[in-house]
Amino acid sequence: MSEMRQTAKSSATDRPAPLVDAFARHITYLRLSVTDRCDLRCTYCMPEKMQFLPRNEVLTLDELHHLALGFIDRGIRRIRLTGGEPLVRRDMMDLVRALGRRLGEGLDELTLTTNGTQLAEHASALADAGVERVNVSLDTIDPALFKRLTRRDRLEQVLAGIAAARAAGLKVKLNTVALKGLNEIELPDLIGWAHGEGHEITLIEVMPLGEVDGDRMDHYLPLSAVRDRLEARWTLRSSSYRTGGPARYFDVEETGGRLGLITPLTQNFCEGCNRIRVTTTGQLYPCLGGGEQVDLRAAIRSADPEGALDDALDQAMRIKPARHAFRIDAHGQRPAQPRHMSMTGG
Ligand code: SAM
Ligand code: SF4
Repeated sequence: MSEMRQTAKSSATDRPAPLVDAFARHITYLRLSVTDRCDLRCTYCMPEKMQFLPRNEVLTLDELHHLALGFIDRGIRRIRLTGGEPLVRRDMMDLVRALGRRLGEGLDELTLTTNGTQLAEHASALADAGVERVNVSLDTIDPALFKRLTRRDRLEQVLAGIAAARAAGLKVKLNTVALKGLNEIELPDLIGWAHGEGHEITLIEVMPLGEVDGDRMDHYLPLSAVRDRLEARWTLRSSSYRTGGPARYFDVEETGGRLGLITPLTQNFCEGCNRIRVTTTGQLYPCLGGGEQVDLRAAIRSADPEGALDDALDQAMRIKPARHAFRIDAHGQRPAQPRHMSMTGG
């Protein structure tokens, strides 16, 4: 990885303007997708025969690094690496180490979202690089349902990965997509298990992103309905805790743990949005639920990469929409956005 780029863009004195959009929202959080590939095939995320991108369309490690540094120079303070599955990219840990060196120097936090299958192998190296917490996606702890949901028999590896992360000193937050008729009944137990293990857990509504096999909206479960089921078992107290993200939080009285709810379809959370997303091909999506996009790969491969990147980021700020455009129509399920979540990493 080129250290030259790292020093060339790190001057604090002539830093360009921060990223502020047309609605005066300060953008300080980047989700950077490092691969579209994955070793699982979650049924709500992608089809079994997912067509992955040709490798030459994907940004090189140097390009990802260069982009991330460009964002830090424009005031991005938190970076979450995601995918696809970030840990299936072979040179991923080099990027983590390189960005880890910017912690405390423009960057406040470096995190990652992972399915956990390869976490056991990488947990210590992540902690050594300065990562303090990881989000692990886990929709069930029932091995048969895990296999059905992800089309792979890997629950054991994921649980080992979570344990390794804890042993390495990483905080683990679990993300769970609530799915009607699938993990719906298990959710109260899953929350009890997560809190018993010392993990925070957040439930998410399934979003209409990309084509999958079958009808994803058959399993759409509004969290308003989940809440009733949870409250039959747990006492939920609304919490003032905020992370700057879209979740609303509750303290579960009996467990002493924290529960987050993300409700993109039933409740809008766009007013305080502070984030942007970049795909592994360098497309910047100012909104997960919108079609607007800016081509950063073209910018950084142009004759004037620094100037073109700054211009592209300014353009992204001009076009970031006020709110997302997710809709559930009365009959169904045409995805609001044709791209899969594995492009933008959630
Ligand atoms: N592979 C990693 C993982 O699963 O954590 C990172 C990428 S994955 C796309 C990020 C998150 O998006 C996961 O928590 C996953 O459950 C969620 N996700 C994927 N497709 C979704 C959809 N259509 N609606 C809501 N969440 C989705
Ligand atoms: Fe892979 Fe994550 Fe999508 Fe599941 S949700 S298929 S783990 S990218």
